[in-house]
Amino acid sequence: MFLKWRITLSDGFSFGFLIIAIISVFTFEMYVVLPTFEEGFVPKAVHILNAIFILTNILGNLFMVMWVDTSTKKVILPSLLKPMWHFCSICEANAPPRTHHCDRCNCCIFKRDHHCTFSACCIGLKNYRYFLIFLFYMSIGCFYASVFNMFFIWEYLGGFSLFSIAAHILPFVFWLFGYLQFTVFLYTMLSMLALVGFFFVANLFLFHVQNMLKNQTTFERNNGIRTYDLGWRENIVQSLGKNWYKSFILPIFASHLPSDGLSFPTNEQTSTPSLQPLSVGDNIRQRRL
Ligand SMILES: [Zn+2]
Ligand SMILES: [Zn+2]
Repeated sequence: MFLKWRITLSDGFSFGFLIIAIISVFTFEMYVVLPTFEEGFVPKAVHILNAIFILTNILGNLFMVMWVDTSTKKVILPSLLKPMWHFCSICEANAPPRTHHCDRCNCCIFKRDHHCTFSACCIGLKNYRYFLIFLFYMSIGCFYASVFNMFFIWEYLGGFSLFSIAAHILPFVFWLFGYLQFTVFLYTMLSMLALVGFFFVANLFLFHVQNMLKNQTTFERNNGIRTYDLGWRENIVQSLGKNWYKSFILPIFASHLPSDGLSFPTNEQTSTPSLQPLSVGDNIRQRRL
């Protein structure tokens, strides 16, 4: 089965909206906007290659966000509660630090950040890299499209005027009252979708970049927890993996994460080993002794 867990109606609606929006804007840019540009073959080919690269990264990283399992479902967790661990009464299992239960996924998620309704799953330790790069390329894609549309849409709306600005902001109203043709209304809607999408996604991307640079989940940020801040360089590695720079090229490049989700280095660590969270292997060894 492709998906890791059942999809709720709101998740399915959000995911469907996202996919339709991405495909619609891409098709609009490629088949409607780009052919109107009076540029030569080479510049157009460069734009097409850029668009394919951005789209591949958007869809590829989105697929990986949904595909990579970051839950505790398939992990054998110790039966004895370790220091800094907690018991999840719903999963009826011990959970390591930074792991939290998601009611919508109905399982515990390693280093849980939040439940993303657009990908219909939780963002946690193992798929955070793909989520962040997805936001990065969505921001670039929406910005790219908006710059393209800026030249295109004003032409369609009859030049830069008060009417065209109002029609751009409220295309549905203008179409409803017969001031816009359906084609122009559709183009204006797609143009607005890319513009609004840019501000929404870029804002989300910057929010998560701040989290990543401090090695904080959204929960830890909201609660002022700075325990895992190891300095911005190491924080990037902790979130995106050792080959973090390759993550920006394509999602197929591996980037091994330092943590397995069972324990995390902290900035409060002392040289006393007994105070550190133990791994499953440690626990098994302890029980054998
Ligand atoms: Zn749980
Ligand atoms: Zn969830």
